[in-house]
Amino acid sequence: MEHYFQAISETDRDSWIQALYDAGQDIRYRRSTGDSAAAKAHLTRRLNGLPDIGETGRSRRVSSVSLNNLKLVQNASPSNLRCCDCNSEDSVEWISMNLLLVFCVKCSSCHRSLGTTVSKVKSLKLDSFSAESRKLLTFINNDFANSVYEDLMLPELKINPDSNDEDRLRFITGKYALKKYVNFEKFRSTQSLLIHGIKRHNIQEMLTAFAMNVDTNMQVSRTTLNSSPLEISLLEYALSKPSKASEEIDQLVYDSAELLLLNGVSCGTKVENNVGLDAKAVSFWQAKIDRFQGKGLQNSIPTPGLTHSYTTGTIPIRASGRNSGSFVKTSGSRLSNSGNLRLSRDHKFNSILKKIKNQ
Ligand SMILES: [Zn+2]
Repeated sequence: MEHYFQAISETDRDSWIQALYDAGQDIRYRRSTGDSAAAKAHLTRRLNGLPDIGETGRSRRVSSVSLNNLKLVQNASPSNLRCCDCNSEDSVEWISMNLLLVFCVKCSSCHRSLGTTVSKVKSLKLDSFSAESRKLLTFINNDFANSVYEDLMLPELKINPDSNDEDRLRFITGKYALKKYVNFEKFRSTQSLLIHGIKRHNIQEMLTAFAMNVDTNMQVSRTTLNSSPLEISLLEYALSKPSKASEEIDQLVYDSAELLLLNGVSCGTKVENNVGLDAKAVSFWQAKIDRFQGKGLQNSIPTPGLTHSYTTGTIPIRASGRNSGSFVKTSGSRLSNSGNLRLSRDHKFNSILKKIKNQ
């Protein structure tokens, strides 16, 4: 039997994809336990966009790479063993890739209902991660996230593992979409905070700036000892500040640039190389543009199982950037980045359809 689903926007389609995928996972699990009536009811809830009703002990086949991702996050902070939103200890294996926090399966449905512009939900067990995303996983820290997103919250307002779906959705919408508990008075200039975060590779400063609705429509002015001031994009600035993939892997990754893109900063339409970006940074940027423009699908989509393979060796950043200062200037143009992962999603959509057909 063939099913056709219609989406009126990319976000809408993304929600459909995720709902279908999750429904497929649920059905597989419930079939394995012989609970077909529950499977049907669950699928109906999913496809009607209703918040997920909790399930525990979901049975999935997971690879060792997936388990490594979960371990990586759990080792990043003791606070990551509990859901960021309801404090549950069950199935705390879902993350928001742009907000960098980890939550339980019940809260993951609420995050998904916020839309991908607010929270990009991924599964630590089911999804694959690029080298940049994998580095970002190491910065997940629920204590820190809550110090920002629950700063002004009265403790009694916090939900708990047994909260009902309605309370859960209301709380999570207020916390992340409406940002009711963020203290917007904490920093005088969120743009300076963001620039400083990139400069010092302080991911928490970057996350704080995003939480405070920083205007990313800006250029960074660089002054060097040997050249006149020049203005570069936020993305180019971030790409000039790569970091090491990990203590063990001597490889540079562009995680702060990835975080910018995840939080809506445009990749633009062409690579600008004013500060001597290395070849790998240029290639990273070009791949993002290609995806945005619908080109280079074969090269830009990570192949499952190969996402963590690296070439070894470090690539030096040109010396001119090291002694330079920077300040922020708002610029007039802003490009939409909404289609950045369009083809990646097409690919994901097709693979999910295939998986569902095989169930
Ligand atoms: Zn939760």
